[in-house]
Parts: sequence; structure tokens; C-alpha cells
Amino acid sequence: MIGIGIDIGSVATKGIIINGDKQCRAMVPTGWSPRDAGQAIIDQLLDLSGIERQEVEHIFVTGYGRVAFEQADKTITEIKCHARGIAELYPEVRTIIDIGGQDSKVIRVGEEGRVLDFAMNDKCAAGTGRFLQVMATALGLDVSELGQSEEPARNLSISSMCTVFAESEIIGLLARGNDKGGIIAGLHQSVGKRVAAMARRMGIKEQVAFTGGVAINLGVKRALEEEIGCMVIVSEACQYTGALGAALLASQL
Ligand code: ADP
Repeated sequence: MIGIGIDIGSVATKGIIINGDKQCRAMVPTGWSPRDAGQAIIDQLLDLSGIERQEVEHIFVTGYGRVAFEQADKTITEIKCHARGIAELYPEVRTIIDIGGQDSKVIRVGEEGRVLDFAMNDKCAAGTGRFLQVMATALGLDVSELGQSEEPARNLSISSMCTVFAESEIIGLLARGNDKGGIIAGLHQSVGKRVAAMARRMGIKEQVAFTGGVAINLGVKRALEEEIGCMVIVSEACQYTGALGAALLASQL
């Protein structure tokens, strides 16, 4: 069965089309219209795969923008999609830590991606991709440069929990001549600490997978591993985990 899964996130819209054992994926910035972003992803996936729209049996949508996208046959929670996506990639995983653009989540899963419990921070930008985007701008960098620019040996602890205060703290640290590398390591540690605290409250069971766009950042992975005290698995397509789950559910209905 041919199915499409779309994850309309606060920053990026990701999509995967599954046709038997073949997959294609695409990503666009969500911008101001979740509906347009969802449509752009469908067009790109059909283009890339050479599949006609009428050949697609189901389109399932997840992510914060899912309710605005009426073209989908079904909306599914991000929790369920991440659990399904990880069960396919790493069936031994029992804890998923997802850090996206505007929230972070910890999901405890059983066999075959069954969701046992979850916790979510969607009230505050600290501990999310948004926090890192704001800090990257203050440092004159792109968010994709943070991972390779950190110097953990010179880690400067960032004391402000609030994104606005943390930005001022960084501007102050730069003004006093501190190196960017140490500041960036401190920022990664701050995200790692916050998310690890949520994971500990939930109870961490190995193996642990790290998903969402922030998982691309090797500095956050390092900090998270230090804070939770075990290794985390990151797939090469970590940002697509939700879309993969939705596509698997759509193609295996
Ligand atoms: P959403 O689903 O809310 O759109 P994503 O899971 O797509 O969020 O993650 C978006 C976040 O991922 C951004 O806020 C940014 O911090 C991070 N990110 C995206 N691309 C990269 C990259 N190339 N390197 C490091 N971090 C990245």
C-alpha cells in the first residue's frame, strides 16, 4: 500500500512516502502557513517518487500544524508517530527523547512501539530548538554551526533558565571577552540538563533514542549523554522520525 506521512512542525515540515520497501523524503520550512507547507511536501514527494496522487491510499499527518491540514485522511499525535518510527528503526529502544523547534518530550515505549507514558515541555522555550536558534543568532552563527563550534573543556555554565535572560547573559559573556566555544558548550549543557531532569522524572530505561531536529546537534547529544549517564542513539534521519511513524501507519493500515 502506498502511504504518505507528514509532520508539520513549528520550524520544518517533513514528509515521507512509502511504497513497499521504497521510501522518499522531503523537507520544507513551515513558514506562516502549515497548509501550504503540507501541500508543498505532497507535491515534492510525488515528484521525487514518480507516484501519481490517485495511487496514494492514505495521507496521515502529525505535528503542531496537523489540525490546519484538511487534506489528510487522519491526524495522529506526535507521541504515537515518534514511537512507531523508532520501533521500526530500533526495536530495542525503551525511552525516546524528542527535542523539536518548540517543545521537548520524553516517551517511554514498550514492545512494537506501544506508548507506556510520556512527559512534555511545551510551556517554555528553554530546552527546545527555539532556545538554540535564539542563542545562535546572538552569537552570530547559524544553528547548524553550534555542534561543531562548542568547546566542552572550556564549558561556561549558563545560569539563566529563561530564554530572554539567557540571551542577555550570553551578550554579557561575549562583551567580557569569553570565547564562543565555551559559551556554546554551556548552552548545550543547559538544554541537556533541562531535558534530562524531565527524563529522570519519567524514569529512563535503556536503550535511549534521541529524535527531532535538535538531535542533529552533536553538542546537545554529548551534553544529554553526560546528564542522563548513558548513550543515546541518533538516526541519520532523526528529524524525520515523526513523519516516518505517520508514513508507516498510513502505508500499513
Ligand atoms: P519542529 O518539528 O518543531 O519543526 P524539528 O524537529 O524539525 O522541529 O527541529 C527543529 C530544530 O532543530 C531547530 O529549532 C534547530 O534547533 C534544530 N536544527 C535543525 N536543523 C539543524 C541542523 N542542521 N543542525 C543543528 N540543529 C538543527
